[in-house]
Amino acid sequence: MGSVLEIRNLHVNVEDQPILNGVNLIIKQGEIHALMGPNGSGKSTLAYTLMGHPAYEVTGGEVIFKGENILELEPDERAHLGLFLAFQYPVAIPGVSVANFLRTAINARRKLEDPNDKGISIPEFRRLLTKKMDQLKMDHGFAGRYLNDGFSGGEKKRAEILQLATLEPEIAILDETDSGLDIDALRIVAEGVDALAGPNLGVLVITHYQRILNYIKPQFVHVMFDGRIVESGGPDLALQLEEAGYDWVREKYAGAAQ
Ligand code: ADP
Ligand code: MG
Repeated sequence: MGSVLEIRNLHVNVEDQPILNGVNLIIKQGEIHALMGPNGSGKSTLAYTLMGHPAYEVTGGEVIFKGENILELEPDERAHLGLFLAFQYPVAIPGVSVANFLRTAINARRKLEDPNDKGISIPEFRRLLTKKMDQLKMDHGFAGRYLNDGFSGGEKKRAEILQLATLEPEIAILDETDSGLDIDALRIVAEGVDALAGPNLGVLVITHYQRILNYIKPQFVHVMFDGRIVESGGPDLALQLEEAGYDWVREKYAGAAQ
């Protein structure tokens, strides 16, 4: 049986304000989920909380992965368990190429597994990187670029997808760019998820973009509103949002019990 990420009744405060008000969600290895919802509904708060950002204070609930409550683990321990979380390394690192960064990330994980590990050899790493870039139809020159240094939103996502491909996690959480509605970035994420999808990868793609089905084919679609998942369904739910927008969600759930 594959790995399962289970979010149970998660409550989160930001600056003493409740933002997540009881989120429940189960993602299994091999499943593709989309989390949608209007701006400000709490989608990114969920992503930041899962990655262990210190500004996000968990006031209730738990997140279980492989029998552990990951909220009690450090971010690198979460990654070691097989979780991939967006924004892990959002900053520009001048002088560090995408390839160097990926090799460092792979070696850090190997060292957690075995303190005596000497790291992946350069030829082995080259083979892995080439295979993954070909799988993602990426230009090999991209690996030589300095990480996030002057990257467009799309290039940042490309680096993130390449990181996802080389680290081979069991469950990945991918949030949209901070710039919001960046179609190019969403397309890169969608094509990457499409190329990497399979029985060994579970994905939660987070977006507020309503026409998501043009880009990604999730089996499960969830709508967040006011810090809760208020609707869940299949691709038809995304289609409904594409046609009708989020107004009906607001009308149905605004002022719902706090
Ligand atoms: P979404 O990703 O769905 O657009 P967010 O999770 O970014 O929503 O935001 C949800 C609410 O939490 C918003 O009201 C936002 O202002 C607030 N919030 C999120 N992160 C922070 C933060 N770091 N500091 C202050 N307020 C925040
Ligand atoms: Mg967001």
